[in-house]
Amino acid sequence: MQRRLFLAAGGALAGFGLWRVRSHAANLDPLADFALTGQLTQGGWARGKAPLDTARLLFGGREVRLAPDRTFFIAFDRDAPPRAELVAEMNDGGASKGQFAIAPRSWQIERIPIGPRPGSAPSEEFARRREAELAQIKAARLRDNAVDGWRQKFIYPVFGRISGRFGSQRIYNGTPGAYHSGMDIATGTSGTPFVAPADGVVILAADSAFTLEGRLLMIDHGMGLNSAFLHCSSHAVKTGDRVHQGQFIGRIGATGRATGPHLHWSIKWREARLDPLLFVGNMPG
Ligand SMILES: [Zn+2]
Repeated sequence: MQRRLFLAAGGALAGFGLWRVRSHAANLDPLADFALTGQLTQGGWARGKAPLDTARLLFGGREVRLAPDRTFFIAFDRDAPPRAELVAEMNDGGASKGQFAIAPRSWQIERIPIGPRPGSAPSEEFARRREAELAQIKAARLRDNAVDGWRQKFIYPVFGRISGRFGSQRIYNGTPGAYHSGMDIATGTSGTPFVAPADGVVILAADSAFTLEGRLLMIDHGMGLNSAFLHCSSHAVKTGDRVHQGQFIGRIGATGRATGPHLHWSIKWREARLDPLLFVGNMPG
């Protein structure tokens, strides 16, 4: 049987080079076709439905879990290559392959004609502390919860000025610095409440401030998708709590490495770093 991959662009954002609509979901053949909807661009994501008799789904060679209704979630790193492939291994031993394009983005790059700041070498104590913090973050991301936030249309955790964009990067005299891994939202003050962008389970609510992230809050939205909120002044939830979209979960602050109060919101799917803007659209004016 000839199997096809159908793509439908959803939640249109101007200027991001979205994949064209090729077909309408109504025309899909559930026995043979993938359905894929989302933001097929670097830092973006897609939700899809696997063909009816799929035994195992692979994305980039790695298995992707299917919900009981065969829905799945995949996402594309900030530096994802221009082509991606989904393979459904079928119960009858056959396979269904679908290739699609990941539209490149042009990131905000700032070239600085001097070398990187010669920071002092980190102390042994800092290195030890950092190692313990990273271990906590890693362990949190391994927690896997049966939660359906990944199916939802995300909402802004707080409204304010976007003071830092995902993917932006400084290049110091030819040496690239780390790119900005999330979206910064500033309300001009500490203490502004923020809410869960989608349903989830709290996988980390750091009691004390981490060296860089400050008071860090992490939420698992299921299927490998999670949000992190950095620099909080306080948390309204604790590790293990179930949260619902729109629920008050914490307050903005400037803990950790922050020049002023803001919420740094980052989203990851597995190892892929994603652009929150592609989940929520432009900030309402
Ligand atoms: Zn930030």
